Amino acid sequence: MVGIVVVSHSDSLAKGVVELAKQMTGGKDIPIKAAGGLDDGSLGTSFEKILNAINEVYSEDGVLILMDLGSAIMTTQMCIESLPEEMQSNIKLCNAPLVEGAVAAAAATAQGLSLDEVKKRAEEVPVVKVQEEEVPLPQEEKKEPVRGEIKSIEVQVINPTGLHARPSAMFVQLASKFKSKITVQNITAGKPLADAKSVMEMAVNGTANKGEWIRISAQGEDAEEALKALRELVESGFGELESEHEEPQKTEPEPQLQKQKAITKGEFKGTPVYGGYVVAPAYVFKREKKSEEERTKGTAEEELKKLEEAIDLSLKEIRELKERILKEGDPKVAAIFDFHAMVLEDEKMLSQVRSLIKEKGFSAKEAISSVLEEWARKLESQGTGIMKERAADLRDIAGRVVRALSGEESFKIEGKEKVVLIADELLPSETASLDRNIIAGIAVAQGGITSHAAILARMWGIPSIVGLGPEIMRIPDGTRVALDGNEGRLIVNPKDEVIQIFERKRKEVESLQKELVAKAKEPAITVDGRRVEVVANVGNIESVAEILEFGAEGIGLLRTEFLFLNRNDMPSEEEQYVAYSRVAEIMEDRPVIIRTLDVGGDKPLSYIPMSKEENPFLGVRAIRLQRLHPDLLKSQIKAILRAGLKGNLKFMLPMVSTLAEIRWAKEILEECKEELDKKGVSYSKNVDMGIMVEIPSAAIMSEHFAKEVAFFSIGTNDLTQYTLACDRGNKSLGYLFDSLNPAVLRLIKMVVDGAHACGKWVGVCGEMAGQKEAIPILVGIGVDELSMNARLIPPAKDLIRKLRLTELKKLAEEALNLATAKEVRELVRERCES
Ligand code: PEP
Ligand code: MG
Repeated sequence: MVGIVVVSHSDSLAKGVVELAKQMTGGKDIPIKAAGGLDDGSLGTSFEKILNAINEVYSEDGVLILMDLGSAIMTTQMCIESLPEEMQSNIKLCNAPLVEGAVAAAAATAQGLSLDEVKKRAEEVPVVKVQEEEVPLPQEEKKEPVRGEIKSIEVQVINPTGLHARPSAMFVQLASKFKSKITVQNITAGKPLADAKSVMEMAVNGTANKGEWIRISAQGEDAEEALKALRELVESGFGELESEHEEPQKTEPEPQLQKQKAITKGEFKGTPVYGGYVVAPAYVFKREKKSEEERTKGTAEEELKKLEEAIDLSLKEIRELKERILKEGDPKVAAIFDFHAMVLEDEKMLSQVRSLIKEKGFSAKEAISSVLEEWARKLESQGTGIMKERAADLRDIAGRVVRALSGEESFKIEGKEKVVLIADELLPSETASLDRNIIAGIAVAQGGITSHAAILARMWGIPSIVGLGPEIMRIPDGTRVALDGNEGRLIVNPKDEVIQIFERKRKEVESLQKELVAKAKEPAITVDGRRVEVVANVGNIESVAEILEFGAEGIGLLRTEFLFLNRNDMPSEEEQYVAYSRVAEIMEDRPVIIRTLDVGGDKPLSYIPMSKEENPFLGVRAIRLQRLHPDLLKSQIKAILRAGLKGNLKFMLPMVSTLAEIRWAKEILEECKEELDKKGVSYSKNVDMGIMVEIPSAAIMSEHFAKEVAFFSIGTNDLTQYTLACDRGNKSLGYLFDSLNPAVLRLIKMVVDGAHACGKWVGVCGEMAGQKEAIPILVGIGVDELSMNARLIPPAKDLIRKLRLTELKKLAEEALNLATAKEVRELVRERCES
């Protein structure tokens, strides 16, 4: 049976249409779904909702999609393009009015007609047709048709809420005062005519969003007067514009805050991002309120030219920024701007922008903002974490182009004295534009530890805090502040004694860091001779060389997602081979563990179909996705085996939960070897295969799993998430997410015991491996290798060298018998802090 999807800007409208259509099926159950409104219930179209609805009603018989307004078509088309080709050819967009079309389509589907026939029935549904020489009247008006010339004007809807609800009612009231017949047509969205005197018709067909153009036609003795009055009403913004200027927008808190009292003393508490002690004047960054939206726009040609120039200028700025950052030795940060440039050079994106300018009369600013916003929402609706951060990038890029179109300069902090930057939030380009020579610390009102500002601050080693709350924006510029990046404290106008303590601690931290880095290349051996291998977690190739400076003895986790994300096609085996070979060569004979692709969940890929899941972290991610697409794993394994000849490579599988998954991967490994043998391609026969233990079932069954693999690496980030049923990215659950919870520690112990009983080794590569309270316990439990952010290696090695294994064993035993993470932390502090 053909499936039907009803896409509308309004959730209730879509649901109502579905309800109505279901009445027309003679009691037959048909596959029909509503996809209306945005996820938060507001007006708009959601990529995610449409995709879900398609997936729910899809069968080989095909799917017919009905839509209301123009931008619904754009979102729907984007959705279809994201689906596999064989599905795309079975999905058709219907060019029929939403309500009548859905009703006719439902009846035809219930009769078992084919997709083409259902579409035809829907599109042929009778609608009120425009008469050549007269404006149509509502059906009940059976009066003599009004004769005379039809006069029309075209006008753009500029008020924020568009021609809906209250503005629509105002429009009807005004139109009703005139004798002429008056119609409205949304020409941007290509909607049917609506009788301007009928509230009902206006609500269904006469709506328009901000920026869309409507044609108002009038026929009768007072046609001209009516058009003049209606034009004035629309152009006045239905009275919404004055209030828009008076009332600050929700997203622009500064004007409100300015009216509030300045904060000149007190202490704020936030989430620590990077440790260190700083006392410096505050530099409070307030984004300039954008100048009033230009109402006059040029012709389409002029707007296209302006767009071209602004994109060239933006690309130039982006490249200069990237060059500067590269010179400062930050390839990881520079890579963010490669992505920005790629977006601005993306032909698909540009052609969407150009067509909005040419065909829909958008200005260059409106067009680029609306296309990138649409893509940003698409990214946001697909997941959390990294993808959401990419949405911030898209908005950042749009902001840059809009600034270029307005001739505004980009963000800069000037001055010589070091400052603590205080900001509500920081966009990627703003953070990267910062001159690190004058930024001593960063304090951000919003954001979590995975925000861009936090990631960059950590990479650069700038003491930073996020999540301090909006009140920090009331600290006056230039006020002296003390920032404690270890505890997440920001003190306003600190007393002299506090300044002295901070200064002493800063000096201590600096000299200690120097001392530790100098000894970092030595091994980490406890006082009584137990060596613990300390290796690094790496997320891209550029940072491989620098981890050696911090004393990494190998790579315990090479996250390969960097090769797969932010592109439109899958990297070839050859491309992967080149990348893995480079890592192997830099690391020489040091061990390198490559983790096979861990996507899905919060990291979707555009070129692999992944349907939206209710619980993505419990869904098709990592090895589960690899099983659906074995070629993904095969190309990775073959590239690793071949690159294995250049160094000491191993690989491990993420998110393993059953023995069957391990056995399947082993078969794939054998197939890869056979295929390489057949082709006569040389490869290493000594590449070990291990698994990540990050699901409780794997930890509990580790004794059995250990017989099948060469090693285990415990991913404590996920293991904690799954043990405590606590989303690792959910800020409201921060109090629960603690890897020192004895439940997690007991699972780690099971893994170590299971592996050692079979003569296999165990590493830990989650965040806890680098935490000073966790290291003594992990070593005491018997973990053989700790893999962490490279900057944490010097202090971790230093700590291990001061410990005694015999005592750590007792400490671990006691910790495993404690009831809470807090008790564990206290016990470690008591025993291990000198
Ligand atoms: C983990 O889960 O602990 C881990 C290291 O993997 P990731 O953080 O990449 O999920
Ligand atoms: Mg993990």
